[in-house]
Amino acid sequence: MNNNGEYIPRRAMSIHAHPDDQDFTVAGMLAKWATAGCEIISVIITSGDSGSNDPAHDASYKPVLADLREAEQRAANDVLGITQTIYLRYPDGELEPTIALRKDLTRLIRQFKPDAVVTGNPEGWFYGDEYLNHPDHRAAAQAACEAVFPSAGSRLMFADLLPAGYEPHDVKRLYIHGTDKSNTWVDITDTLDLKIKALQQHVSQVKAEEVDKWMREWAEEEAKEKEMKYAESYKVMILKKDDEEA
Ligand SMILES: [Zn+2]
Repeated sequence: MNNNGEYIPRRAMSIHAHPDDQDFTVAGMLAKWATAGCEIISVIITSGDSGSNDPAHDASYKPVLADLREAEQRAANDVLGITQTIYLRYPDGELEPTIALRKDLTRLIRQFKPDAVVTGNPEGWFYGDEYLNHPDHRAAAQAACEAVFPSAGSRLMFADLLPAGYEPHDVKRLYIHGTDKSNTWVDITDTLDLKIKALQQHVSQVKAEEVDKWMREWAEEEAKEKEMKYAESYKVMILKKDDEEA
């Protein structure tokens, strides 16, 4: 808990499909947690290697773009105070919630033992009338949820992880962003500027002035009727109470 009685995990893992997803969505809360001393592990499943429509480029540009986008994500995480960034390097645009991906995320959860996992909405299809959600976002969120439960805490699932030292771990809280089933509004008034600055590190993807405007509008919209200036909203699943043994 911080001085305002808000929950701050000791360690959290943020899991997303592409470089920039985290910074468009949950970065205000992550910056708030990092400022309060939370250690955050940022897991990026693809390196965004399909994120260009420039006619000058073909498939040979993909590894170049992946390197560029990984560097942009590292810069964004520096802004947010996130010290660990992990790239799983699945192909961008072809992500599925496979058992292999669930196992990779299970291994990471068992390795880092986060109290909270933060991800997108596996059910998210339509946002407003103009944004059809990217299937990679759903796939990443689904695999993350399924790794949190049941895989990470179930000893005999992915049993070959055991001899490698990955003992089961129970995540206490799961934060889902981008849902109309939100039950928790996090005040990001003090960290919105950091969120915008983090997003602006993704130079290959965004225009600095545009994201400044959008992020303020979205955060203001989320904060409506919540006695906050800027907010992010989440569905928070409390899978294990804080006073229960980890
Ligand atoms: Zn994305």
